[in-house]
Amino acid sequence: MTDTDFAQDPEAARWNYHPDGPVALNPLFTWPIDLRAVIDWYRGAWLQFTALSICFLLAIAVWAVIIPPLAAMQSFAPGWMFQVWLANLVPQVLTAGTLHWWLYMRKGQGLKKKFEKRDLNRSNGNFTFNNQVLDNIFWTLGSAITVATVYQWVIFWCMANGYVPTVTFAENPVWCVIWLALIPMWSGFHYYWAHRLEHHPRLYPSFHAVHHRNVNIGPWTGISNHWLENLLYFSTYWIHFIIPSHPLHLTFHAMFQQVTPVFSHSGFERVIVNEKDATRAGDFFHQLHHRYFECNYGTSEIPFDRWFGTFHDGSAAATTRTRAHKKQMYTK
Ligand SMILES: [Zn+2]
Ligand SMILES: [Zn+2]
Repeated sequence: MTDTDFAQDPEAARWNYHPDGPVALNPLFTWPIDLRAVIDWYRGAWLQFTALSICFLLAIAVWAVIIPPLAAMQSFAPGWMFQVWLANLVPQVLTAGTLHWWLYMRKGQGLKKKFEKRDLNRSNGNFTFNNQVLDNIFWTLGSAITVATVYQWVIFWCMANGYVPTVTFAENPVWCVIWLALIPMWSGFHYYWAHRLEHHPRLYPSFHAVHHRNVNIGPWTGISNHWLENLLYFSTYWIHFIIPSHPLHLTFHAMFQQVTPVFSHSGFERVIVNEKDATRAGDFFHQLHHRYFECNYGTSEIPFDRWFGTFHDGSAAATTRTRAHKKQMYTK
């Protein structure tokens, strides 16, 4: 389907803002490979103001200012453990708080580039405290940040005691940079499989339903998950038990896993300030998942959904296919 066809596609009328053209996937996995498209994809992600580059800058700042040196983490002690908790809490509150304020409280750009027509749910019995935003803040800061922090305590403690392989930038700068660049891919790989598992009809109610209370999503929805989902979702960090890592790798992994969803769930494709594009934000790929459920389980970084037939490209035909797939899943 071409971009012009997409403008005529019946799916476009179902959204306040519907991006032109099919949802983009990483061109690295398209054969024959289009090198120019691949370079543009990675340049667009790393060298512009995006969730990824913001997370990278946040990781450097958090690691330099808040994360204690490994030598201080050899035995469990309240001081450094509190600092690691802060290193998770502060970026989450700053990013989700700022985006929520600009997009939903101040309504700084109105409905420009907003996918859904509706506003967030102020009063709805489906949510904890009968309020979507309070519900999302509660599950994010209460459950998600706690589980993420506990996992990091254990990994940092293992790193500090030499129980797991570590590396320094002075020893092996090439590996350190490659591993930083691969972390988003590892995260996407882990997320796809964990997320598919959570959509199994038997696991869904206890693991994932809390996150999917949100059909219409906002920045605080990003990691608003049940405890059980968080135990699985943050097990992505366990890779640092095996792969030689520096504390900065774990910090970047944490920012990527915790803060990227703030942007991808923001509900707006771009943040616009003073009529100027400030940053890429929301992700139509995942927005479609929240409306139609049984599609786009992964991310656009590795196209598992295309390979396994669950890719929704934003067209009405894909919606019909997704609905049929959902019906089939639940009648089995
Ligand atoms: Zn989500
Ligand atoms: Zn889901």
